[in-house]
Amino acid sequence: MTRRATRRIQVGNVPVGDGAPITVQSMTNTPTADVDATVAQIHRLEASGCELVRVAVPDMDAAAAIGAIKARITIPLIADIHFDHRLAIAAAQHGADALRINPGNIGGRKKVDEVVACARDRQLPIRIGVNSGSLEKDLLATHGGATPAAMVESAMGHVRLLEDAGFERIKISIKASDVPRTVAAYRLLAQQTDHPLHLGITEAGSLYAGVVKSAMGIGMLLAEGIGDTLRVSLTRDCVEEVRVGFEILKALDIRRRGPEIISCPTCGRCGIDLIEVVDQVEKALLPRTVPIKLAIMGCVVNGPGEAREADIGIAGGEGVGILFKKGKVIRKVPRDQLVAVLLAEVDQWEKENGAA
Ligand code: SF4
Repeated sequence: MTRRATRRIQVGNVPVGDGAPITVQSMTNTPTADVDATVAQIHRLEASGCELVRVAVPDMDAAAAIGAIKARITIPLIADIHFDHRLAIAAAQHGADALRINPGNIGGRKKVDEVVACARDRQLPIRIGVNSGSLEKDLLATHGGATPAAMVESAMGHVRLLEDAGFERIKISIKASDVPRTVAAYRLLAQQTDHPLHLGITEAGSLYAGVVKSAMGIGMLLAEGIGDTLRVSLTRDCVEEVRVGFEILKALDIRRRGPEIISCPTCGRCGIDLIEVVDQVEKALLPRTVPIKLAIMGCVVNGPGEAREADIGIAGGEGVGILFKKGKVIRKVPRDQLVAVLLAEVDQWEKENGAA
């Protein structure tokens, strides 16, 4: 797929836009002023592969905590601010790598100029984040509601405020909580600007609804070449957001991180307790980062075909699994040893293929 040409910005040491890898980000849900809790959550996010983290900055205590948090984490930190430009300035002074703030909502040109001067001095980007639920009243009236056109007009209004101040390190998101509006809004926005875009479906919901909406909305846009970084929003542990984000990139063959497990849905021919085997293997391999294709199939009807195409594969028989490696049958493995053997084969494969 051809990616839309965008400008590049730097969020700390992570590039966004202009062909840089599409990054996966998330947001903490601890009180930011609670440094220990926030750092602990960011460490879990880092371990899951999260590449950029956003923290809420609702008050000066949260802004002041940023320095202490930054000192203990390795990924760039984005400060999320609503309305109060003093919080944006304080967050930047305490070491935030980027700001998320909508300049049209902070009280006029003088305050915008102050935030811009502060961001420019520190070479920080600003993300404009438009959500369908908080559009300006006049735009809602003109467009008859929070339509994609209204969302784009709002975003471009914020962009102009920054550009008029000579500020160009901009990233934009334009999220609704439903897929059709979000996709339409991003498509429209992509025609009007070449600033990099942060993709997401806002308030997507709990695990099942959130995964489906995010995969469809973010996936459709990515497949069209739109999008430079993404955040999956789930009413769930934020580590799950990162996992889903990478699964979306993996499914579209855009980026690979960790194993891709191909497994069959099982049917009456299934010769082993496949669901349990897949669960155990998936859980054990969660922290792995080396891309590898595994096939775990229930029987010898379709199993060997898939298993042969994978780096390592198992096709279940009656109480045994046939182990394949790089297309070759290696041996039969008793059911009670299947998971251990598969994991040992992955270890070996990683050694031979450059494990981190
Ligand atoms: Fe059924 Fe075998 Fe296909 Fe799995 S691989 S769904 S067990 S036919």
